[in-house]
Amino acid sequence: MVHVIKADKYIEKVLEIVKKRNPVEPEFHQAVEEVLNSIKPVLEKHPEFEESSILERIVEPERQIIFRVPWQDDGGKIQVNRGFRVQFNSAIGPYKGGLRFHPSVYIGIIKFLGFEQIFKNSLTGLMMGGAKGGSDFDPKGKSEGEIMRFCQSFMNELYRHIGADTDVPAGDIGVGGREIGYMFGQWKKLTGLFNGVLTGKGLDFGGSLVRTEATGYGCVYFCEEMLKDRRTSFDGKTVVISGSGNVAIYAHEKATQLGAKVVTMSDSNGFIYDEEGVNIHTIKRLKEVERKRIKEYVTEHKSAKYSEGYKDIWNIKCDVALPCATQNELDEKAAKTLVKNGCIAVAEGANMPCTPEALKVFISNNVSVGCGKAANAGGVATSGLEMSQNSQRLSWTFEEVDKKLHNIMINIHSACKEASEEYGVGNLVCGANIAGFLKVARAMMSQGLV
Ligand code: NDP
Repeated sequence: MVHVIKADKYIEKVLEIVKKRNPVEPEFHQAVEEVLNSIKPVLEKHPEFEESSILERIVEPERQIIFRVPWQDDGGKIQVNRGFRVQFNSAIGPYKGGLRFHPSVYIGIIKFLGFEQIFKNSLTGLMMGGAKGGSDFDPKGKSEGEIMRFCQSFMNELYRHIGADTDVPAGDIGVGGREIGYMFGQWKKLTGLFNGVLTGKGLDFGGSLVRTEATGYGCVYFCEEMLKDRRTSFDGKTVVISGSGNVAIYAHEKATQLGAKVVTMSDSNGFIYDEEGVNIHTIKRLKEVERKRIKEYVTEHKSAKYSEGYKDIWNIKCDVALPCATQNELDEKAAKTLVKNGCIAVAEGANMPCTPEALKVFISNNVSVGCGKAANAGGVATSGLEMSQNSQRLSWTFEEVDKKLHNIMINIHSACKEASEEYGVGNLVCGANIAGFLKVARAMMSQGLV
């Protein structure tokens, strides 16, 4: 019989190990701390998890790959970036998680994202393990040729670590359909295979309808369920959205379809406020076709104002806030302002956009909160649906995929709510962590010490 200590002591012990073994990785520490602190009641009820050292095992990636990515710029100069793939946990399926290309990327960011991905994928109800990858390459300002050469070089190493039944990457910040296309082409050339090794592919070569829209739509579907619990809906609500990338654009589109007015969008330089409602067609053209900055919007829409700096976006009065840009973009001060201005629901389209202090402010002020693991799981869920279609050599219609996505988001909301009630934690954030964790922990127990 293994000696078991109290749940809070066990959590403390594992957090210490994480900090010691992964120094100077604050985002990873933050993500682990949030999950571990919210599963305390689970550990109290299931001492067998401690007996089998589930926490010690779950916080340590199964595999971390770091590699050199050399590529030639348009001036003929050789540039070198660093590539990453962290295969975190394969207890419930092949590794699955996006690739991020952004100058802020280092191993700590990839570990935080990979760790979150374990529980997010578990919540979807599909067979997908957790992983994440990327590079410190900055796609901004690069030519088409440079982007293509970088993606090809990145795949020259990554291809030996991935596969349709082992690890299936997708997009994230800085990686959209264009980059996935170049990486898929290179993977096909290197392996001679054609299968569903990457998701988010173009519709002409195995991509799924709705994958582009999925994370944003899914976030709004999740938020709609939270609003239903408050006996209200998106209809007539004022919505503040941060970011103007893939997630933000489609969160805007779906919220607008449901009758809301979206009044803001942002990028890392600043934000726009349009009291008449941000025009989605202008945004799509500016960001998806012309790849311009958000401030260009105000030259076309006189009702809109542009402000430098993205943090003040949370001062805009709203009923619903959807942070869809990046981690830690919404802090305690911003949360207090949102509460003061009457915000009733927050759904995280981005990964970990609210700081732990901000989450506390929302929860203690009875604001409904959907954390990223639950609210933005629609993207990976639809990637899972893309994998199913690829395996069957089939393509489902837009309506079919959208309906499946909608049902998955409703189910995730119910799972978070049920876990929250069963373990008496009283909020969907802890509910999501508990529901996501339980499935993975049970699978790890069943599979023995591997
Ligand atoms: P995009 O690259 O399409 O867009 C990112 C947006 O966020 C841009 O508007 C970007 O502005 C802004 N942004 C990025 N970094 C910062 C920063 N440091 N400060 C302020 N703004 C910033 O990425 P996605 O829309 O795909 O991803 C957004 C978030 O959603 C991320 O947290 C991602 O992990 C998460 N997510 C994405 C999924 C997907 O399917 N795409 C799935 C699940 C979660 P700028 O152009 O100035 O950089």
